[in-house]
Amino acid sequence: MRRVLPVLLLLLSLLTACSSNESYTDTRYLMGTQCAITVYKRADQKVFDGFFSRLEELDHTISRTYAHSEIHEINENAGIEPVVVSAEIFSLIQRAMELCELTGGAFNPLVGALTDLWAIGTDEARVPSAEEIASVLSYTSPEHIVLDEEEMSVYLTSPHTHLDLGAIGKGYASDVLASYLRANGVESAIINLGGNIYCIGTKRHGEKWVIGLQNPDTEYGGYYSTVEVEDTAVVTSGAYERYTVEDGRVYHHIFDPETGYPSESDLLSATIISPDGTLADALSTAVFVLGSEQGRELIEGCGVEAVLLTDSLEIIRL
Ligand code: AMP
Ligand code: MG
Repeated sequence: MRRVLPVLLLLLSLLTACSSNESYTDTRYLMGTQCAITVYKRADQKVFDGFFSRLEELDHTISRTYAHSEIHEINENAGIEPVVVSAEIFSLIQRAMELCELTGGAFNPLVGALTDLWAIGTDEARVPSAEEIASVLSYTSPEHIVLDEEEMSVYLTSPHTHLDLGAIGKGYASDVLASYLRANGVESAIINLGGNIYCIGTKRHGEKWVIGLQNPDTEYGGYYSTVEVEDTAVVTSGAYERYTVEDGRVYHHIFDPETGYPSESDLLSATIISPDGTLADALSTAVFVLGSEQGRELIEGCGVEAVLLTDSLEIIRL
């Protein structure tokens, strides 16, 4: 699994390097993944530094694992008391709950109890019993969150309910960082937050960016197709990103909130293309859970573009 990310980063750099021999890349490990920015026209070092310090700040706010992140505080106070948060995190949670409704709960930021139970991607990953899954499922219901706009507070009404913004955080961060770069005069750049891409402008001579879509085959990596885009986010959800294997069966990290098990739709991966990176991230997760048929309806209703890869290796472009 760890082999796949470097391949993706390499591919992306190869694909984009064709555009110009004047690109400047900086990479750091943040948000639990390799994050890179490539700018096509020399930018001041201050822009790179500002980029990564904003990313670090977002990581420390959104991640549930940092001891003092706002999300951690909300989870720690679940069933105890409301937590007053920053305007930024309040708006993000509000947006996440709206997207939960829009996707009929397929994207659900309250899946924290499930992510904890399965612990996929950690050393404690295991397949829980059906009873354990049934016992936490009701805690993922949106009725367990109370958002008070006046107080700017967030309250999880059950001690077992936990927020997990893992399916939207990188998309949101890419939106914030794209605005930051544009405000600093960057007209041509690629942000890559562990495969969660945001393209700014076009390549140097006005050509579109060519982004490789990762082959979900964990053995081989590489890419199965490409998309040509400008000024937009390209976000993919796939079972290959994090998983555990037990008794020869693969259990991945994207849950169907209706069953509590890793989703079993007909999709191997779902890519959403939209200038709204937050929307693209939430939708990529939701569509992956819903599958090609219901996913198509959601995509068309939201007016975004998408590329879906089905388990019969059919490529659906919407
Ligand atoms: P992504 O790679 O954007 O699809 O996000 C996957 C991550 O989001 C997982 O690692 C979990 O932390 C969390 N997650 C899993 N299933 C869901 C779901 N159905 N809705 C929202 N978040 C989820
Ligand atoms: Mg997502």
